[in-house]
Amino acid sequence: MQCSIKGCPGVYEERSVVHTVRHKGEVIVIDHVPAEVCTVCGDVLFRPDTVRRIEEILLTRSVPSSTVPLYEYA
Ligand SMILES: [Zn+2]
Repeated sequence: MQCSIKGCPGVYEERSVVHTVRHKGEVIVIDHVPAEVCTVCGDVLFRPDTVRRIEEILLTRSVPSSTVPLYEYA
């Protein structure tokens, strides 16, 4: 798929990314999230079902096992 950023010649390719999100004042890091990443500018797209899954993780998360709040997507 062609990149959605104006003037960018890149295309999106499926990759696994580390997603960092701010949730209720905390920084949450979720590892191994499937995303479409532009090969040129690095723009990241998530599919709607992936976005829903991330929201689920944020709502249902328990205390992370390490001092860094790192969550596994899968
Ligand atoms: Zn791009």
